[in-house]
Amino acid sequence: MSKIHYTKPSITDLEISYATDAATNGWGDRCYQYITKFENKFLEHLSAKYAIATSSCTGAMHMGLCALGIGPGDEVIIGDTNWIASAAPAVHLGARPVFVDVLEDTWCINPAKIEAAITSHTKAIIAVHLYGNLCDMKALLAIGQKYGIPVIEDAAEAIGSEWYGKRAGSMGTFGTFSFHGTKTLTTGEGGMFVTQDDLLYEKVLSLSNHGRVRQQRKQFWSDIVGFKYKMSNIQAAIGCAQMERIDELIARKRQVFNCYAEHFRNLPLKMNPEPPETVNGYWMPTIVIDEGVPFDRESLLASFKENNIDGRVFFWPLSILPMFEERRENLVSYDLYKRAINLPSYFDLTEEEIEKVADVIRSTLHYKGG
Ligand SMILES: *Cc1c(COP(=O)(O)O)cnc(C)c1O
Repeated sequence: MSKIHYTKPSITDLEISYATDAATNGWGDRCYQYITKFENKFLEHLSAKYAIATSSCTGAMHMGLCALGIGPGDEVIIGDTNWIASAAPAVHLGARPVFVDVLEDTWCINPAKIEAAITSHTKAIIAVHLYGNLCDMKALLAIGQKYGIPVIEDAAEAIGSEWYGKRAGSMGTFGTFSFHGTKTLTTGEGGMFVTQDDLLYEKVLSLSNHGRVRQQRKQFWSDIVGFKYKMSNIQAAIGCAQMERIDELIARKRQVFNCYAEHFRNLPLKMNPEPPETVNGYWMPTIVIDEGVPFDRESLLASFKENNIDGRVFFWPLSILPMFEERRENLVSYDLYKRAINLPSYFDLTEEEIEKVADVIRSTLHYKGG
């Protein structure tokens, strides 16, 4: 059997034809054509108001936090179990990420721990919808409102996820997305900034264009120091094709997840939850082995490797990394990663390959087939 990858984009003739068109014709007057189209298609999908295509999700977050005025001395509250990309922009702005514990079932930020971490320096709460799982947006938005603190959504992993009928990334002060090659929708590298706020949109639009405000008629004139985090027209062309296929891209992620779930029915483990009134886009099927069950993630990864399967470790608590201060009191974050593994998931993954992955897990846990 050929190698089972961790993730892999689904690129069809449609993506190739749009990219070829952009490379052939998308210059001069047409150099923004696919970018504008991609932004509009994305907005339609999210039912949101404003979108700015960016070079990455990290860039979108950097500009959004900057537009909110976050800077030295400020604090940004974020779940400890996370990918560094969600926290790095705050650090670059001179702010301090405050890592709070996550919930045992969703692996997302624990709202009860947020209130305890709020100080006079708190300038934002970043809600990361981990592996497609949703943060408790009702609780987070209520806390944000109570304390007058913006709630930001990092929806990089949550394309296809919905909270009470609203798409992930469309509920916070702003939302960010990633179209990195490992994500459900890809442009190779790329991202999106999304907001419903007129003023914030104008600010980020200026920031994204080296600080040149839209009404400025003088050439090469910057009004503020901005950023250069733009998406190219060729990347956006691939994005347009992916947007036309968004429903099938999400549907396949859900099928892959459900196929795993079927295989794991009798095993002592939990997978990504999908509570009532939510839809999980299941970007990354993940297993968390029940407490007390003997499990060593390194030996499972070694078995994967022997079988030509590519697996990934669950996110470390960010506060365990050398550049941050340890927060061992975040008991859930400091426990979850030892018991968890991310499983391969992509459009072309076959049922047979899923079964092979499931067999390796089953034998590692010493459970017989079926
Ligand atoms: C992938 C990812 C990012 C980073 O996206 P880039 O486009 O690589 O900057 C940020 N946050 C989360 C939660 C991610 O999964």
